[in-house]
Amino acid sequence: FPASSKLLVLCTLSGGGYVAYSDSQSNVGSSSVDINQKEGKKKRVVVLGTGWAGTSFLKDLDISSYDVQVVSPRNYFAFTPLLPSVTCGTVEARSIVEPVRNIIKKRNGEIQFWEAECLKIDAANKKVFCRSNIENNLVGKNEFSLEYDYLVIAVGAQVNTFNTPGVQENCHFLKEVEDAQVIRRSVIDCFEKAVLPDLSEEERRTNLHFIIVGGGPTGVEFAAELHDFIQEDLVKIYPALKELVKITLIQSGDHILNMFDDRISSFAEQKFSRDGIEVQTGCRVVSVSDKEISMKVKSKGEVCSVPHGLVVWSTGVGTRPVMRDFMEQIGQGNRRVLATDEWLRVKGCDQVYALGDCATIDQRKIMEDISTIFRDADKDNSGTLTILEFKDVIDDIIERYPQVDVFLNKMHLSDVADLLKDPQGNYREEVDIEEFKLALSHVDSQMTSLPATAQVAAQQGTYLSRCFNRREQCEGLPEGPRRFRSGGRHQFRPFRYKHFGQFAPLGGDQTAAELPGDWVSMGQSTQWLWYSVYASKQVSWRTRMLVISDWTRRYIFGRDSSRI
Ligand code: FAD
Repeated sequence: FPASSKLLVLCTLSGGGYVAYSDSQSNVGSSSVDINQKEGKKKRVVVLGTGWAGTSFLKDLDISSYDVQVVSPRNYFAFTPLLPSVTCGTVEARSIVEPVRNIIKKRNGEIQFWEAECLKIDAANKKVFCRSNIENNLVGKNEFSLEYDYLVIAVGAQVNTFNTPGVQENCHFLKEVEDAQVIRRSVIDCFEKAVLPDLSEEERRTNLHFIIVGGGPTGVEFAAELHDFIQEDLVKIYPALKELVKITLIQSGDHILNMFDDRISSFAEQKFSRDGIEVQTGCRVVSVSDKEISMKVKSKGEVCSVPHGLVVWSTGVGTRPVMRDFMEQIGQGNRRVLATDEWLRVKGCDQVYALGDCATIDQRKIMEDISTIFRDADKDNSGTLTILEFKDVIDDIIERYPQVDVFLNKMHLSDVADLLKDPQGNYREEVDIEEFKLALSHVDSQMTSLPATAQVAAQQGTYLSRCFNRREQCEGLPEGPRRFRSGGRHQFRPFRYKHFGQFAPLGGDQTAAELPGDWVSMGQSTQWLWYSVYASKQVSWRTRMLVISDWTRRYIFGRDSSRI
C-alpha cells in the first residue's frame, strides 16, 4: 500500500529532451518523430510505468528540481489488490483506477505523460525508445525516443507461464484490469453455455468446472470471490445448475497460502473444504488444452487430465521482454530478475534506478554485509560474541534488513534459540559467529529477497523520490550524513522495507490477516479491518467513494450477472 492514502503526482515538462531517432539496432522500427527540442537546465528524469512503484515515486518528487517525463502503456493507476473483486463484479473496474492525468491535474503540475510502451533501453547513450500503443490510423508517427539524465524503471512484471504448453492460449490471467473484465464475462459465458438445450449433464458439468492454478494470495482470493459470486448470486439465477458447479484450486506445494503463517494456511484450507472448493496440493500442471488440463501428481508420479470450463493461471511473475533485453545489454543476462543495490541503483549501469516487481535488491551483497557486520563486531577475532554484543549486532542487521527480523521471529526461531542456549536450556555466555552465519545462509534467499508486492513497490517509490529531492543538498556533501560500516560512504541511507502485514480474503465475509509483531487475526472482524484498510488506501476520494458504494450495492442488490 502507498504510505499515504492520496497519490499525488508531480511532474514537469520544461526542457524535456525528446529527440528524433533512427536507430538501426533498435527493433522499434525505422520511423520516428521529433516531438520536442526544448533546451533545459534541469536534469531530465524519465519514469517508465504508472503502477505502484512509478506513481509513488512521482507523487513525492520535487517538480521544481527536475524535468519529468512518464511513459506507460496505460494512462491510469490500478489498485491491484482489488482486482480479484473486479472478476466477479463485487467492485467495478472503473472504481479501482485513477487516470494519471487526473492525478497530475490535482497537483497543478506540468507533466509529460506519454501513453506508450518502452521497447528498448539504450543505457550506453542514455535513451529509451518507445511506441504508442494506441491502435488506430491517426495521422502521424507513433514511435519516438527520449533522452534522460536519470532513468527510473518501474515496469512491473508479467505473468509467468513457466513455458507450460497451452497456458498462453487456453488460460485466463489475473494481472491487469482488462484480465479481470475478461474473466467476469467468461464466468457468465460458462453459465449461459451450461443452460443451453440438448447438452448432456456431463457437458454441463464440464462447462461449470472452474480451475484456478496457483495457491498464492491472488489464486486463493479469486477462488473465494468466485465461490461467493456463484453461491450468493448465480445459483439464484440458474437454480438448475446449482449441483453441477465445481471449483478446483491446484497448488504445486503442500499447502495453499504457504507464504503466510501456518495458522492462516490451515484456516484457509478448512474454510475451502467447508465451502466445497476442492484444493489439490502437490500437483504440477504439465499442459492445458481448450478442453482439458493435465497435471502430474507428485506423490504418485502419474499424469491425470481433467476437463474444464475455464482456467485461471496465477502462479507468479516473470520478466518483461524489454527488461530481458536491457539485462543482456548490461551483463545481467544470466539473472532471473534485474539486480539493484540497496540504493535501488541498477548494477553496472550509470544513473539508472529500478524498483517494484521488475527488480530485486542483490541478495549476495546483503549476505556479504551481514558477514562484515559480524567481522567488525568481533574485535578480538575470537570467532565468538558475548550475548550482549550479539544482540547489538542483530539489532544492527535488523535495522538495515527488516526481513531478517521476519526470519528470526517466525521461520527459524527454534534454530536461533538452539544457538543461544546450551542443551540444558541455559543461555550461553558466548555465541559462535560461524554457527549463526551457517543458520542464516541456509535460508538466505528466503530471508533476503523482498516479496513482489504493492507494499514493497510503493515504499521503494517513496524512498527514491526522497533521495532525488535531497540530491542537490547532498551534492555539497557527497559522502552523505550517515556512514554505513560495510558499504563505505553514501549520499543516502539504503532502502529499508517496513512490513505492515498482509491480508488474505477467504470469502463469506471471512478474512485472515498477518499483522506486524507476528499477530494473526482471522474471521469476520478481520474482514471489517480489510474493508477499512482498503478503503483508506484508495488513491483518491473519487475511487474511495466508488469502491465503498460498490460494496454497499453488492450488499443490497447482489452482483450484476449481465454479460457486457
Ligand atoms: P505494476 O503495478 O504492475 O506497474 C507496472 C507499470 O509499468 C504499469 O503502469 C504498466 O502499464 C507499465 N509498463 C509495463 N510495461 C511497460 C513498458 N514496456 N514501458 C513502460 N511502462 C510499462 N500486492 C500487495 O501488496 N497486496 C495485495 O493485496 C496485492 N494483491 C494483488 C492482486 C493481484 C490480482 C495482482 C496481480 C497483484 C497483487 N499485488 C498485491 C501485487 C502488486 O500489484 C504488485 O506487486 C505491484 O503492482 C508492483 O508494482 P510495480 O509498480 O512494480 O508494477
